[in-house]
Amino acid sequence: MSSVAYTRVLALIAVIAGIPGSLEAKDDPADRVLCREGFLQVTSPDPVSAGEGRRVARLALEAWKFDEAEMQWKPSPDMRRPLTLCLLSDERVEQKWGKGTRAAAYKGGNRFMMRASLVDDPSGPKTLAHELGHVQSYRALRNDRAKNEVPDYFLEGHGLSLNRLWNAQHPESDDPSGWTSQPKMIRSISPDEVKRVYTDESFRHGEQDPKRSGKIHLMGLYLVEYLYGHHQIKDVVTRMGRVFEEVGGGKSYPAAFRSAMGVSLDKVIAEIVDLFEATTSTPEKRLEGTRFLKWAGKS
Ligand SMILES: [Zn+2]
Repeated sequence: MSSVAYTRVLALIAVIAGIPGSLEAKDDPADRVLCREGFLQVTSPDPVSAGEGRRVARLALEAWKFDEAEMQWKPSPDMRRPLTLCLLSDERVEQKWGKGTRAAAYKGGNRFMMRASLVDDPSGPKTLAHELGHVQSYRALRNDRAKNEVPDYFLEGHGLSLNRLWNAQHPESDDPSGWTSQPKMIRSISPDEVKRVYTDESFRHGEQDPKRSGKIHLMGLYLVEYLYGHHQIKDVVTRMGRVFEEVGGGKSYPAAFRSAMGVSLDKVIAEIVDLFEATTSTPEKRLEGTRFLKWAGKS
């Protein structure tokens, strides 16, 4: 694997799910509105044109509808409340969020930011599909208790699945070489690390270390793929929407998971950890039943 592929994927997965909503008001005072389109407004404190604002608004609304159709949310006025997309210069993103970050959603569910340089990039729409998946999830979760109840691996498994579903429908937008590091990481991660990502409190929220964050994203997506391939839950992403809604309605995350997936969270995690233990010398078997190799253009 080339270092370029590694950076690309790291860049793709280094999206932050845990920025508290309370920080939403602390934007640059120079932030100005570039355009308004339905419930969405596009703003920027940087030299970004109104034309770029209009182009990204169109793409964002398309990605929003794509996510909604996938998730089949229960009708709620909350879903269409005003939303702000703030376009930031690369310099500002790197200064505030670190080099690998492409975009980030605030937990309040009213605001997200993206690098302005992605507006006309082929990877822009799938990034929007991922971030808007977080925005919609935060809206379905509704309150702080619920947002703290669902671990980041689940949120990121959801976000990355929306990336993949978008790519499946828009193959021209993807470069499969960007996904080759995921099968490699699955082969190399230890059963102990897998268990920690799923169960250790320190992995639950707001991880800033890119290596640990990469594992959280990866194992979140692995969980989705495991349910898809080993439990034959072909509409697993749509069912994740029911988990968000049920936690938003007061259930615990494990109870909502059980209700939506028809299998207990503890059982699935134990199965995955057992599988990783049993395949330390044959790690290729971890990929059986999943779509990781297909996405990486290797099958
Ligand atoms: Zn994310």
